[in-house]
Amino acid sequence: MRVFTAALATETNTFSPIAVDKRAFEASLHAGPGEHPATPTLCTAPITVGREVCAREGWTLIEGSASWADPAGLVARTTYEELRDAILDQLRAAMPVDGVVLGLHGAMVAQGYDDCEGDILSRVRDIVGPDILVCAELDPHSHLTKKRAEAADFFVYFKEFPHTDFVDRARDLWDIAARALKGEIKPVMTVFDCRMIDVFPTSRQPMRGFVDKLMALEKSEPGLLSLSVVHGFMAGDVPEMGTKVLAITDNDPEKGAALAEKLGRELYAMRGTTMVAQVDEKTAVDAALAAKSGPVVVADVWDNPGGGTAGDATVLLAEFISRGTTDLAVGTIWDPIAVQICFAAGEGAEIQLRFGAKSAPDTGSPIDKRVTVKKLVRDAEMRFGESFAPFGDAAWIHFDGIDVILNSTRAQSFDPSLYSALGIDPKSRKILLIKSTNHFYDSFSKIASEIIYCSAGKPYPNRPAETNYRKARKDIWPMVENPWG
Ligand SMILES: [Zn+2]
Repeated sequence: MRVFTAALATETNTFSPIAVDKRAFEASLHAGPGEHPATPTLCTAPITVGREVCAREGWTLIEGSASWADPAGLVARTTYEELRDAILDQLRAAMPVDGVVLGLHGAMVAQGYDDCEGDILSRVRDIVGPDILVCAELDPHSHLTKKRAEAADFFVYFKEFPHTDFVDRARDLWDIAARALKGEIKPVMTVFDCRMIDVFPTSRQPMRGFVDKLMALEKSEPGLLSLSVVHGFMAGDVPEMGTKVLAITDNDPEKGAALAEKLGRELYAMRGTTMVAQVDEKTAVDAALAAKSGPVVVADVWDNPGGGTAGDATVLLAEFISRGTTDLAVGTIWDPIAVQICFAAGEGAEIQLRFGAKSAPDTGSPIDKRVTVKKLVRDAEMRFGESFAPFGDAAWIHFDGIDVILNSTRAQSFDPSLYSALGIDPKSRKILLIKSTNHFYDSFSKIASEIIYCSAGKPYPNRPAETNYRKARKDIWPMVENPWG
């Protein structure tokens, strides 16, 4: 057997001012054929797991290129076409192949391309023809379009949000692919449109129970190969935005359709109840200051670079400063210009610095302080599950009892190791202010005395009923009260 694999992924917040070019991919992950590191990045696990599976089976794995850019705004047309065409050329050169196993995200939008994954998959299908297996692992924060579903044999999505299971789901993907390639099964995909958009963290109820139920059904239902919830992505203004449920059966589309509909209607009944309650910045600061012990983790949930914002909002920090807060460590604020100034000044320097809030409206105002540059780290990294997330050249600055980590590659606050990377012990601070909606939970909950979810400013379009969509459908909840009527 000869199997081709490659990855091309980013998550596009079409409202974000941060345009994505080739350098944005190079800053996060851009590996040529065969050059992908041993450790996977979020959407590239099909490559590393594919190495294990093909070695075990005695199959030939032909690796194409792998590119991942951290979530931001629209991808430049030339960048998208260049990365896409490289993979398509590699596939043509690898022909004939028995299967194509891709790592995609599902919410990539480029200038002129509302549905990048549908475009890639249909071009792959054109190259390999109708009889060759084409499948992909994707992030549930994506748009499942008709074009994609028609072009591919099946998809497996991460089940967990935070996405702690991206390697496990790549194993599921390869397991189904391998059995199909051996002729043991015929995967058939059916989709149910839930006519809604919402946010579905799985670390809490009711989604925890729902995901556990999906996994139990996968084990117990005869002929069922895989179930996925495509959460949808409300910051992507594209025509087919919304939540879907996906069932893969061993050639039993009636069963798949019935199961997807049943689960999809259960999910619809949970709408509006899945998110943890959020407080505004004044209430968040009150609660953090009132805490008896630390570290109290305050999450700035809607300035999450993981959702494509800049990650430079200062609304919460300004509130803490106005109350005279000390013993606070901020991880992180994106400001490549301020980082450059700190590097020029050097460790130990005391400088007048303006930082933060330069990217977009609704992010607050820049902070002006006389700061001490405590530490400078080139190419800083933090842990994220089994992999590492780069956050670029970083500077630890200190003023008035407050520590701030400034970074130059946008990254959400996945893990407390972002502090230790700069020499700050996160457990030694009373308050940790971080930027993440949900991915932080798994690691930060292990050291937190308390977690406060704060909605401060709105760089991220987090209220779909009020968002000024131009392309997204408006016949779904919460844009309409009853989309089934
Ligand atoms: Zn996601």
